[in-house]
Order: sequence, then C-alpha cells, then structure tokens
Amino acid sequence: MMLHLYNTLNRKKVEFVPLDEEHVRVYVCGPTVYDHIHVGNARPIIVFDVLYRLLQHLYPRVTYVRNITDIDDKIIVRAAERGEEIGALTERTIRQFHHDIEALGTLKPDIEPRATDHIHDMIKMINLLLIQGFAYSAEQHVLFHVPALQDYGRLSRRDRDDMVAGARVEVAPYKKDPADFVLWKPSMDDQVGWNSPWGRGRPGWHIECSAMSTKYLGPDFDIHGGGEDLIFPHHENEIAQSQCAHPDSSFAQWWLHNGYLRSEGKKMSKSLGNFYTVKELLGAGEREKMWRGESIRLMMLSTHYRQPLDFTKSGVDNAKKKLDRWYRALGDVDFEDGLSTTGIVEALCDDLNTPRAVAIMDALCGSVSVGRDGVLDAKRDLRAGASLLGLLQYSSESWFQGGSVSESREGGGDIESLIAQRLVARGDRDFDTADSIRQSLLDRGVVLEDKPDGTTVWRRIS
Ligand SMILES: [Zn+2]
Repeated sequence: MMLHLYNTLNRKKVEFVPLDEEHVRVYVCGPTVYDHIHVGNARPIIVFDVLYRLLQHLYPRVTYVRNITDIDDKIIVRAAERGEEIGALTERTIRQFHHDIEALGTLKPDIEPRATDHIHDMIKMINLLLIQGFAYSAEQHVLFHVPALQDYGRLSRRDRDDMVAGARVEVAPYKKDPADFVLWKPSMDDQVGWNSPWGRGRPGWHIECSAMSTKYLGPDFDIHGGGEDLIFPHHENEIAQSQCAHPDSSFAQWWLHNGYLRSEGKKMSKSLGNFYTVKELLGAGEREKMWRGESIRLMMLSTHYRQPLDFTKSGVDNAKKKLDRWYRALGDVDFEDGLSTTGIVEALCDDLNTPRAVAIMDALCGSVSVGRDGVLDAKRDLRAGASLLGLLQYSSESWFQGGSVSESREGGGDIESLIAQRLVARGDRDFDTADSIRQSLLDRGVVLEDKPDGTTVWRRIS
C-alpha cells in the first residue's frame, strides 16, 4: 500500500519514498525535562507513535530516535529555584515522563539519546561549522552566521525581518548579524558546563538535535517530526547546522508537524485553569472515574494531526465511552496482532487519517453488535486496527475493572511500576499521591518497606 504524507518542506501531500526501502529512519524532538509533560507535549508523542506503528507495519525495519533534552536554561533555572541538583531534577522528570507516555500507550523509541551524553558530538559538529566558515566564535560564544547560508528559511518560508522578530533572539554586541544564533555559550562557575575549545560552557538547544540525529541516523535520513511550534526557529536552525556541517547531504527528506493544541477552547494557561499535565489527568478523580491513558489517546487521535486540536475533558469522557463500546464488542476473544484490516491501514496511509480510522473502528464495532456472519472477522479487524492505533491494549476484563495494562498482560506485574511512581511522587513532595499508592498496594496485600539507600522493597502479606 502506498503511503502519502504531508511534507512541510514543500507544503504538499506526496507519496513517501524512503531513502532505503529496507530501513526507514525517523527522528522526533523529545521533551526538555524540567517539568511534567502537559497534554500539548503529549500530542506529538502520540501522533508519531502512530506513524512509528504504521511504518513498522509497512517496512521491514524502522529506526525511531526521540531525544531527551536534559541540559537547557529552563532546567538550570528550575533546579536553582528548587535548590535541587540538575541531575536529580532531570532523572525524576524523565522517570515521570516515561510513566506518563507508557500510560498513553506509546511504544518505546529504538533510541532515546540524552543531550548530556552527546556533548562531544556537538563540539565536533560546531568545529565542522567553524572550519567551513558558517560559524564564528566571539566572547566565549560560538554563533551560527545566518547570512552564510543562502537558502536559510526554506522550511518556515519566513522573510528575514520576520525571522529575527520571531526568534526573539537576543541582540548581543558580539553578534555579527541579529539573526545569528547560539551554538555554544559560556557557563558561569556555578552553572553546569563542559570543557570545550571555546572555554567551559554548554550547547545551544538546536545543535543538540542536529548532532544526535546525525549520530544515530546519518546525515541523510527519512523523516523528522515535531510540533508545528518547532518549525521556527528550532527546525530551521537544525537544517542550517546539519546541511552546512555536511554539505553533501540534505538532512531530513520529510518534515512532519502536528498542529497546535488548545484546551477547553482557549490557549492553555495555568491562570485560566485549563492547563492539564498528563500526570494530573491520569491521577485525577475517584478510581472508577479515573481516566486511563487510552481515553486521552483516542480523544487526541479523533482529530487529524495537522489540524488544531481542542483538548476538552468532555472529549476524553466521550472517548472513554467509545472505548467501552469497543471493548464490549471485542469481548475476550484474542487474536495475534499483525492481521491488519485494509480499511484502517488505508486510512493511515492517507497522511495518518486517524479520524477516518476511528470511524472504521466504530463501523466494525457496529457490525459485531448486529451479530451477523463475519462477526469473528470484524473482531479480528477491530483488534488489528486497534493495535495500529495503539488502543485496546487492556484485556476487556481489566478495562472494565479499572486494572492496568500490565495486570492484563502479566497478572499483577505492575507493582514495580507503582513503586516507581511513588518514588517520583515523593521526590515531587507529593506525599498525598505517595501515600495513596502505598495504601492501594496494601489493599492488594502488598507491603512496602523503604530502605535507607532510597530503594523500596515489597513483599506480600501471606
Ligand atoms: Zn529538536
């Protein structure tokens, strides 16, 4: 089946032809880990998870890289505010991030590189840019010189003045041109930093993604994804850095961007009370009213990824009701994955048309309920379609009883994950959540014991 994707580079939906039919390579910008992810951060994670599942279905091998930005000024500021070590803050945030997105039903990427493990690769790339005259150093900074690249701006299609204003770049005396952006900057003695040829300092954000994508996927790869808000300046600058460091290559062939997210009809903001972290949504309410990640996921997939999405709690409620119907239709019949229904693959091959795929799922569910011939086939299609969408991952018994996915799969194997969640809650000084997890385990006959080294062991009450 032919896959068509909308490429932001040429603003067209065209047939996807990978550089290597045997091996598709994808890079997606991951989170900056200074705080819990909110629903806006969750959208690209879910969208590109569906893309990953589809590519795995269509091609023999897919490498999916999604980075973690664990060095950034926002992280430095947050750690200082909390009086916490940067490493402790980022570790804790990464753990919560993994927990949140697992609940949203996402597969692990093949590689999840952290920026701080790749400083050397960034320094190497900055050096290449300096040698070739695309960058210059000034007052312990290294800057990319935008006028040195003729077609700068071809992804965002902005004109120059617009770009300077849009990037909100600092007008610093050491800049040759106001549009020049930072590749490396100095760190104060009390700030985290690494030794470099330009003094002790740290990388700019854009160079992180250029260095990590090149390292794991090569200078030319197939798809680069992220939210629409990253087109400028982040992705524009990634293109500039990567193409100039490797003049014989063209970097990512396909640029995919998901649309903006609003919340309850407005721009999401803490002061409007419509700012939802995934953690809050998963933990809110009574156990029987609690949302599972699948409801949030289905809510988001009901809008096409390039359209703006209005995230609403009532939308999540509706998605939950829909999932109830699907689980009821499926019952306890289980099938091997991989027998995908053509209708749903076709819908996804049309630039990831998830709303159409969801409508087909509804129709399948309807034909199961009517109970005519072919019920088993409809159930099989329902299961296969769901696995492409990353839904119906629970056993239906567990779904209706409020159990977890791992309980469905392993019969009680989620204790470790609850312990990890509790540790995160304690690190966040969220003692209510920590206590309620302890209590819920106790209700299941599991006792926790906290060790002086910070680990927790558990045993069952016999
Ligand atoms: Zn990036």
